[in-house]
Amino acid sequence: MAIVVSSASTIEIDRPGQKPRALIDPFQRAITYLRVSVTDRCDFRCVYCMAEHMTFLPKADLLSLEELDRLCSAFIAKGVTKLRLTGGEPLVRRGIMTLVHSLSRHLASGALEELTLTTNGSQLQTYASELKACGIDRVNVSLDTLDPEKFRAITRWGDLNKVIAGIDAAQAAGLQVKINAVALKGMNEDEIADLLEWSHGRGMDLTVIEVMPLGDIDESRLDQYLPLSIVRSRLAESYTLEDIDYRTGGPARYVRVGETGGGWVSLRLSHTISVSHAIAFGSRALELFTCVLVRMMPLTCDVRCAPRKTTSS
Ligand code: SF4
Repeated sequence: MAIVVSSASTIEIDRPGQKPRALIDPFQRAITYLRVSVTDRCDFRCVYCMAEHMTFLPKADLLSLEELDRLCSAFIAKGVTKLRLTGGEPLVRRGIMTLVHSLSRHLASGALEELTLTTNGSQLQTYASELKACGIDRVNVSLDTLDPEKFRAITRWGDLNKVIAGIDAAQAAGLQVKINAVALKGMNEDEIADLLEWSHGRGMDLTVIEVMPLGDIDESRLDQYLPLSIVRSRLAESYTLEDIDYRTGGPARYVRVGETGGGWVSLRLSHTISVSHAIAFGSRALELFTCVLVRMMPLTCDVRCAPRKTTSS
């Protein structure tokens, strides 16, 4: 059995033996992109994302790796062609590579066009080659500063050297890397151009993300908020920025940077960890939210019930 969210307020159930119906959003667009949060845990405590002492979901409330595999496979059967694993930090989930290996069968069959993940990079040195061997071609690495002390201040627990080593390993393994940097007032606002030069110099694209006022943190969001309009106008003082039409289904807007060899910077209006942005912006995307909920505007469903009540896909 699979859940179909077919319009603003109805859920249709596929019948056994029927070909699964495609997922259509309330604007009649096919859903082809699924983001899956495989854990709410992380080995960092970024000041804009988590409080230092977090209470995480009880393990029993998380979908098991097998349940995640069944759900992802059901969505793929219903037309999802691009699947992104997120967290928390996806690579700290115990046994995560079992899920990646298992999902890679859908790449081999051609049902899935892309399997990818967003990571903080701390575990990439360990997993980069294996991810590549599973058919993953691209990863997004969250990195807000190149200054080790600022990095520690932002992530509380992170080690910049480990992340850089992870990026090195990813590129050596043949993975394309995109850097995601959250723009933070008073923290990295003077470093965005350096991040741009560094990323493009290493053949990586950069997305600058506006911090979002959601989630349980210890600090004031207002102290962190830096509008992307300011980021853009500051970059425009030093670079030729050309808007381009490229879209990936998410809310980012892409800008080609004339002076850095043709690379682009994208400016995105929300932070993915805190909010199911892809849905909030009405794009053709869906998100399994912290392994428990599936959200698609305007509906939220508890996805634990489906794999726990039936053995059928
Ligand atoms: S922003 Fe990413 S790396 Fe930082 S605490 Fe949140 S999930 Fe972890």
